[in-house]
Amino acid sequence: MEHTSPLTAFTPDMFMRNFAEAEPGLSRKGAVEESNRCLYCYDAPCIKACPTGINIPSFIKRIATDNLKGSAMTIMESNPVGASCARVCPTEELCEGACVLNDASAPIQIGLLQRYATDWAVNSGVQLFKAGIPNGKRVAVIGGGPAGLSAARELAREGFAVVVYEAKQLAGGLNTHGIVSFRLPQSISLWEVEQVEKLGVEIRTGIKIGVDVTVEELRGEYDAIVLAAGMGYVPPLGIEGEKLSGVYDAIELVETTKTGIPTLELMGQRVAVIGAGNTAIDAATCSVRLGAANVKMVYRRTRSEMTAYDFEYEFAKQEGVEFNWLTLPKRIVGDELGNVTGLECVQMKLTGETGKDGRLKPVPVEGSEFVMPVDAVVIAIGQKRRTGLIESLGLEHDSGIVRIDPKTGRTSDPMIYAAGDIVFGSGNGEAMVVSAAQQGKDAAYAIVKQLSGLQDGVIGSAV
Ligand SMILES: Cc1cc2nc3c(=O)[nH]c(=O)nc-3n(C[C@H](O)[C@H](O)[C@H](O)COP(=O)(O)OP(=O)(O)OC[C@H]3O[C@@H](n4cnc5c(N)ncnc54)[C@H](O)[C@@H]3O)c2cc1C
Ligand code: SF4
Repeated sequence: MEHTSPLTAFTPDMFMRNFAEAEPGLSRKGAVEESNRCLYCYDAPCIKACPTGINIPSFIKRIATDNLKGSAMTIMESNPVGASCARVCPTEELCEGACVLNDASAPIQIGLLQRYATDWAVNSGVQLFKAGIPNGKRVAVIGGGPAGLSAARELAREGFAVVVYEAKQLAGGLNTHGIVSFRLPQSISLWEVEQVEKLGVEIRTGIKIGVDVTVEELRGEYDAIVLAAGMGYVPPLGIEGEKLSGVYDAIELVETTKTGIPTLELMGQRVAVIGAGNTAIDAATCSVRLGAANVKMVYRRTRSEMTAYDFEYEFAKQEGVEFNWLTLPKRIVGDELGNVTGLECVQMKLTGETGKDGRLKPVPVEGSEFVMPVDAVVIAIGQKRRTGLIESLGLEHDSGIVRIDPKTGRTSDPMIYAAGDIVFGSGNGEAMVVSAAQQGKDAAYAIVKQLSGLQDGVIGSAV
């Protein structure tokens, strides 16, 4: 892509160009040809590899026969955020990784086909599903991200009156605010929100549970609660200099680029991004597109321990991001005006010893301290847990990870179910949009069972 020159000012046009969706998607001819490569396997392994169990051969067959509504419905039936997932799922580790054609030639491009079908639905304005007959029961959902929307949709299809409480002004969670728009435009996430709203789900935005509405009020008003509040911003690193001007939280940085013209510019700046997960990659590539002259990722371990996916790593390299492995930040250096001028680091080495997490332990190399000259530092070392909210609900947790029954999402309080990032961590799954969507569904089905006495949830019906 063509980036803005570091010497020019950032104009709205340049912003549109740098932050528009990078992947062009398939043409009709390309989609039909790709669909016709599918072997439509009996007992298809890709279905099992998709956390939401989308009937992949079925949606692909419908593309081949030009039934795009049917195709989109097959996808969205299993995955209420299927249009977003088409863009952000690590497909090579999930559905495409399981495709039998991996051994013969190349896997079917399931993500791109999923995008082709769901784009049709987004552009046609069609409403795919309808609400169930009201059953008189009420459910509150805390958080309007993928997990909360998914739970809300399935409950609405079963006739529950659902209210989603969302702290931000727009629902959609990290799909709307956190994942860079050149991979996932906000409009796609907002279409998914609208699909849920059109089922009669009330989405009360700008309302923070525990602040604007109390937990006691929720308990009094609803028959069940789904806690899907995700995680927070990035925790502090705990090193000197974090309050300097030019130090940014990675998630906040990405967020400024999702909602329009960013308030932040990195034109011509040298940027260090601390971390090596999804958030760090998104922050690094975002910094490039915000006009940074040079972006370095700083990570205390090596490439093999980084948690970002391969496709993200490759994308970042293509964008010109540099990687500084085995480098530990010690202090952010500033000038007398309080602006960042450097990042003091120490070189690390692997000892061959493994830590509690099974990964090789890095240790500092004595006397190897150096200062990396930078104008901005972006901290991307994970996300804070929502311990305050969890404790105000009186739920059992492990360092901010809500304890649940993994099949149903039921918490230590039988009235409250939890789903999504708020239950991920410490080996308990991986924070992905598609898993959050499935957990939201699981919580909804468990509530249906608990409140309706149904045995199993064949939920809702299509329009
Ligand atoms: C930068 C970044 C990049 C990522 N990239 C990918 C990717 O490429 N692929 C992928 O699969 N996953 C990716 N992820 C992870 C993915 O975004 C999350 O796993 C997913 O969004 C979790 O969904 P959720 O609904 O649990 O939480 P969230 O999406 O965080 O939604 C939770 C919602 O709850 C709201 N909320 C919080 N507290 C309250 C309260 N007290 N009252 C009311 N509302 C509240 C929040 O405002 C938020 O909207 C990425 C994450 C980040 C941060
Ligand atoms: S939701 Fe994700 S894992 Fe499932 S089929 Fe679609 S792209 Fe693959």
